[in-house]
Amino acid sequence: MADRVLTTTGSARYERNTCMGTREEQLSPEEFGIAARRWLSERLGGQPDTGDLDAIQVARSFQADLYDAGFAGITFPAEWGGQGLSAAYQQAFDEEAAHYELPNFVFLVGLAMCGPTLVDLGTATQKRRYLRSLLRGEEIWSQLFSEPSAGSDVAGLRTRAVRDGDDWIVQGQKVWTSRAQYARFGALLARTDPSVPKHQGLTMFILDMHAPGVTVRPLTVMSGRSPFNEVFLDEVRVPGDAVLGAVGDGWTSALTMLDHERRSVGSPSYGGDTRLSFNSLKLFAESMGAAGEASVRRSLTELFATERAVSLLTARLREEKREGQDLGARSSVAKLTGALLLRQATAAFTEMAGPSDLAWSADDERHVAIDSAIKAAPSVGIAGGTNEIQRNIIGERILGLPREPSVERGKSFAETQGSGEE
Ligand SMILES: Cc1cc2nc3c(=O)[nH]c(=O)nc-3n(C[C@H](O)[C@H](O)[C@H](O)COP(=O)(O)OP(=O)(O)OC[C@H]3O[C@@H](n4cnc5c(N)ncnc54)[C@H](O)[C@@H]3O)c2cc1C
Repeated sequence: MADRVLTTTGSARYERNTCMGTREEQLSPEEFGIAARRWLSERLGGQPDTGDLDAIQVARSFQADLYDAGFAGITFPAEWGGQGLSAAYQQAFDEEAAHYELPNFVFLVGLAMCGPTLVDLGTATQKRRYLRSLLRGEEIWSQLFSEPSAGSDVAGLRTRAVRDGDDWIVQGQKVWTSRAQYARFGALLARTDPSVPKHQGLTMFILDMHAPGVTVRPLTVMSGRSPFNEVFLDEVRVPGDAVLGAVGDGWTSALTMLDHERRSVGSPSYGGDTRLSFNSLKLFAESMGAAGEASVRRSLTELFATERAVSLLTARLREEKREGQDLGARSSVAKLTGALLLRQATAAFTEMAGPSDLAWSADDERHVAIDSAIKAAPSVGIAGGTNEIQRNIIGERILGLPREPSVERGKSFAETQGSGEE
């Protein structure tokens, strides 16, 4: 059997196989990082032989290995299949993982958003049923919040869920649903009571994406890929025990998930090596022979400092959250600074690339990778709430500035203009 990391709540051990049998060692976060480095280099170093496997199979196999090696769900509670370790261990892993393009991006919505929300709000039965298989990559999750007329104003959504005995019948449409075409489950936000103000009549459900009436249509973007989908919900029957949180309190469930999403999207480890970062730009500068130039060194140093600050902020928030502290709206600060960090990285690249940034040959892998990272960068300022929305939240909830004026305040959803309700 291979060497592996074993964890119990609060501590990690390394089980090493020697010719004398197995030996166990306690691991500090630093040693955990070293174990992660060794594992990642063995698992992802060199050219992985993926044979005939497609990207989803590769992702599943990697996530299962990551889980079995003790590096998935690092801060998830041990009782629900996680490793039960502190944010310092996650930080140590993230620093090592930043050197690789982990092939498990398809699980991100589950690992970073739906999974932590299940931990916070799920019943024991839900946690038992979903968490371990989510962490091990056996079931992919998606988030069904946004609609054609409800993005920034997600509480204005129109998808309806109406009671039918113990079940609910769902009717409506979602959009921008990341990786729904692969998903087995989705966290669905729907309106269950239009007679109260819009934030009060929502409920979150765990949706079986294979249920009759669920139609997923991929949306192709300019890169030729289909990261998003439209999801049509036509008389979809959802059982009563699929409510995540409380009936009518879906806004709390949504804020819980958005809080996790904002810390995750803001984190410099989000997107791994596909993201513009100090590491990728340092390599680029070296390959251009420009790493010694004063202006390049200054840009890289500034980028390193900002990246480090954002990374420490997200790690601190993650640890406070794990300890049960109230983060208030501080995840919005992490999200906004993470998005601005990418803007800074794009500017640093443009400056160091100079005229060579204008055109390159299609087989120049280095440039092609950076080009796709630059194209992906603005999306971080949109997903999980745009930069403008984060600024509004920070202004109102942290700085105490006046709330935005609203003609809807105090009115039921059905009364508000454009609700589509009779
Ligand atoms: C990469 C990516 C992945 C995504 N994945 C998912 C997913 O899996 N599931 C899901 O449900 N959604 C997903 N989304 C959708 C995302 O949540 C929405 O795009 C986002 O909330 C913005 O909504 P919108 O696109 O409708 O823009 P709009 O809300 O129409 O906003 C348009 C512009 O108006 C500005 N604006 C709007 N309201 C205000 C205001 N009050 N004050 C100041 N400015 C304002 C916005 O900042 C923006 O610039 C994803 C988006 C991206 C980019």
